[in-house]
Amino acid sequence: TEACLTAIEGAGALNAFVHHTPEIAMAQAEAADARLKAGDAPAMCGLPIGIKDLFCTKGVPSQAGSRILQGFLPQYESTVSQNLFDAGAVMLGKLNMDEFAMGSSNETSVYGNAVNPWRRGNDDTALTPGGSSGGSAAAVAADLCLAATGTDTGGSIRQPAAFTGTVGIKPTYGRCSRWGIVAFASSLDQAGPMTKSVRDAAIMLEAMCGHDPKDSTSADLPVPDFEAALTGDIRGKKIGIPREYRMDGMPEEIENLWSDGIAMMKDAGAEIVDISLPHTKYALPAYYVIAPAEASSNLARYDGVRYGHRAGLDQGDGITEMYEKTRAEGFGPEVQRRVMIGTYVLSAGFYDAYYNRARKVRTLIKRDFEQVFADGIDCILTPATPSAAFGLGEMTDADPVAMYLNDVFTVTVNLAGLPGIAVPTGQDRKGLPLGLQLIGRPWEEADLLSSAYALE
Ligand code: GLN
Repeated sequence: TEACLTAIEGAGALNAFVHHTPEIAMAQAEAADARLKAGDAPAMCGLPIGIKDLFCTKGVPSQAGSRILQGFLPQYESTVSQNLFDAGAVMLGKLNMDEFAMGSSNETSVYGNAVNPWRRGNDDTALTPGGSSGGSAAAVAADLCLAATGTDTGGSIRQPAAFTGTVGIKPTYGRCSRWGIVAFASSLDQAGPMTKSVRDAAIMLEAMCGHDPKDSTSADLPVPDFEAALTGDIRGKKIGIPREYRMDGMPEEIENLWSDGIAMMKDAGAEIVDISLPHTKYALPAYYVIAPAEASSNLARYDGVRYGHRAGLDQGDGITEMYEKTRAEGFGPEVQRRVMIGTYVLSAGFYDAYYNRARKVRTLIKRDFEQVFADGIDCILTPATPSAAFGLGEMTDADPVAMYLNDVFTVTVNLAGLPGIAVPTGQDRKGLPLGLQLIGRPWEEADLLSSAYALE
């Protein structure tokens, strides 16, 4: 814990940690020492980790990367962070992220972007660690903590993991409680671990998840021993390769990464099967209707009355002006864009044309996966991202849709509620990490982690 706290102090330029909690860390570390001495060491005993700023941590600033939550100190602990503390984990602080988890580069954060510790060869252009869990990915990759929590609504664990050479798993929807996690799109949001290895991910996921009566969508299922399931034996497993993920204009190095992964799994005894997920091309548009729709509703609570930032009242304004000014000042441009899109697609005149249609598309996407799993496929192998980490600022001037395209391989998994994991398996020409994604059957994270272990 002390070594991590020192490393964090020396790594301010990465802007990964946005709130530091050294006193909490030292107290938790001492408690962990005591448990260790008493011979009662749980799975995460004494392990120093970072917590994404989206998780409510009792008495510790939890701003979700937003100005509107400035000054907000939660009165309670999120279930996931509490589960981790109960398992002995030590909290070093809160990690940078895109505002309300909306973004793919950590550049929408009120704290400014986090920075990827990797560089393109000798070129010192600062690169994005990905987003929205960019601070988590940067902190793990730079050894500022042993692991971190992330959340994933459309790829926010898997894309930053791929950009930083770390491992990130989004479990099945309902595996981790969402209680105490600031809501972005409630039907898609899931928490998961971001770690240095598949084994660490297995250990941490087991500590994080489990049934929680405080979240009505949390699954009442036993939590398997994920670490014990890591045999790495994939002989006879059927690995699906979806032809629709072979996009036009896919960079050669991503093609090669994918072929190498396929070859590796085949050599390890898996059966490689060409599969079709025909509705894949509608996933991004459906996601970018459903996620903003849910966000516009979830974000209605930030009105200047209940949380954080408030504007206007001191100028003698009425309540409507106070709402308007608070939200205009408190939300950044990407969040405002999502609220407007969401409100529009939910409006009486357009509900059927957009929101309802997107929900139907979502069902078709889910059925595509159900069909291939019914045909005996154990897991599906795809690239995690369409490129390696890009330069900070490189995508922000472009059309926002260019940034949304980053999620092309990840959003289907959230729409279908499936578990997905990003594993670092290669490098691009400049030496930047690249990752592959494995998608599993619902609730079969144990099997998915074991396949990922074979690929690592
Ligand atoms: N990049 C996607 C978005 O901006 C996904 C974000 C996430 O998974 N939280 O919505």
